[in-house]
Amino acid sequence: MTALPPAGRYAPSPSGDLHLGNLRTAILAWALARGTGRAFRLRVEDLDRVREGAEARQLEDLAAVGLDHDGEIVRQSERGDAHAAAIAELTTRGLVYECYCTRREILEAPSAPHAPPGAYPGTCRDLTAREREAGRERMRALRREPALRLRAEVSTWSVRDRFAGEVTGAVDDLVLRRGDGVVAYNLAVVVDDAAQGVDQVVRADDLLSSAPRQAHLAQLLGLPVPEYAHVPLAVNALGERLAKRDGAVTLRDRLALGESAEQVVERIGESLGLPGCRSARDVLERWDPRSLPSEPWVVDLPA
Ligand code: GLU
Repeated sequence: MTALPPAGRYAPSPSGDLHLGNLRTAILAWALARGTGRAFRLRVEDLDRVREGAEARQLEDLAAVGLDHDGEIVRQSERGDAHAAAIAELTTRGLVYECYCTRREILEAPSAPHAPPGAYPGTCRDLTAREREAGRERMRALRREPALRLRAEVSTWSVRDRFAGEVTGAVDDLVLRRGDGVVAYNLAVVVDDAAQGVDQVVRADDLLSSAPRQAHLAQLLGLPVPEYAHVPLAVNALGERLAKRDGAVTLRDRLALGESAEQVVERIGESLGLPGCRSARDVLERWDPRSLPSEPWVVDLPA
């Protein structure tokens, strides 16, 4: 197999139209990839939260702001065999166990000593054969499958982030496959990034705390760990993550109000301290990643 060229990527979940914050992240991912001589890949993360028609609209929006990409668009829903192979490999190495807990039981369980908040308390990690049989019985009654969890052998992992520097975060017995049979995001993202040659992950910094888990999984699977570059989120005037309820925040909303895609890109450029950019290419030519604002982008739009 020929080695894939190094690449950056944008990996939206097709859950709705892209808003200005999403587009800013996409433009930055593209500009950093292109500016460092990389290919740029698109991947549709459609394992979950899929809204009819959203994928086609998102791809149109990315093209409208001037983002080109290399190779085929990958859909995560078509990557089941690769995801299953990764879980099988971890299973062979004794690194996977079945979990019969409900969400509620996990929330209500006392957390293990020294465990980070929200970490799985390890309830199903060391069950006897008889306890497992009872757990499976219970799952059958609930018409669910057991979730599959990683038997983590570390509790923290460190990654390098281009903007945040060295980041050490929690690794717990994370879910690899959910009780409804859907492969977990953390596993899919690691397997799919590697398969697309992605060695540079630019995305919003609400995912920074997931990077150590993902890097650890990559390392366990013998996959290269990408460089991370988490960029600030877009927020509303109250400092909350930008969302539909904030009014006309998607590209489509702005176009419906009579703005052009160039004007939307111009607004995004301004948020980066680059007034007068009319296209993603202008951003690429003028953006110095070292000047990225470290604060969230407070989006304040004329209605
Ligand atoms: N699909 C995720 C999202 O749209 C992004 C995942 C990633 O970039 O790793 O929030």
